[in-house]
Amino acid sequence: MSTTVTFWGTRGTIPSPGAHTARYGGNTACVEVRDGEGHLIILDAGTGIRGLGKRLAAQNAPDGIRAHIVLSHAHWDHIQGLPYFAPFFKRGNTITVWGPKQGEVGMEAILRQLMQPVVFPVPLDALAATLEVKHVNAEPIVTEGCTITSLRVRHPAVTLGYRLRMPGGASVVYVTDDELGPAGDYAVGPKWRERFVRFIGDADLLIHDATYTPEEYTTHAGWGHSTFAEAVELARESGAKRLALFHHEPEHTDEATDVIAAQAQALGAKGGGRTEIVAAAEGLQITL
Ligand SMILES: [Zn+2]
Ligand SMILES: [Zn+2]
Repeated sequence: MSTTVTFWGTRGTIPSPGAHTARYGGNTACVEVRDGEGHLIILDAGTGIRGLGKRLAAQNAPDGIRAHIVLSHAHWDHIQGLPYFAPFFKRGNTITVWGPKQGEVGMEAILRQLMQPVVFPVPLDALAATLEVKHVNAEPIVTEGCTITSLRVRHPAVTLGYRLRMPGGASVVYVTDDELGPAGDYAVGPKWRERFVRFIGDADLLIHDATYTPEEYTTHAGWGHSTFAEAVELARESGAKRLALFHHEPEHTDEATDVIAAQAQALGAKGGGRTEIVAAAEGLQITL
């Protein structure tokens, strides 16, 4: 049974549409994962989720759409597309949104604010679909399609990385916002790197933050993001089979991202390294 991963939004921080980002895409974080039977997991709800929602709505599923939307955290670039997710507005669809509680603030309260009448015309309670909002705790999320475990990562607010164990055994690890560099003060507990490397294991696909070049990081240390070189090093250390560089810096043009991808591939191949490396692009589909 094969797993399909489709990128609908690859950009970090803020949408950056235009001719200069046409190939890698300007929409913010959203990744569709499907198992061989078509069960649907959506990782993050940046502006990329709008396109996915349109595609789903057009498919006209007779029994309604069943989807799990799994949020890494509640920064704008990971939730801002949610109010524009077309399946919310059709009776018969059932959608579960999962995400970490932010201190004392629950995820449902955050989504209510996102769709408050002063900023959005349709409140959360008026959605036609059946919606449930659940917190991610220490226990795995078990969905129709897969089992998902989580680990807190090095980023402001409570931010989770996810490991999806798919039917048939394939594994996808999604870590969108994470600072691998030494700066920043994050409540991730002792021996984090060791635990993180084990968490990734020999994933079939690691999707990881690669916001900066090493030069850019020197002026962005402590901002909660990684360089592509650090992502490559992590992939090699953990034995991930493929690495998708993700959460592209909004100022990076397609040409700049081409250079980053080539440099990352060269780094990955050093010493006979075998990790396959791509820069995630809107529309890119990877089959595992
Ligand atoms: Zn982000
Ligand atoms: Zn963030």
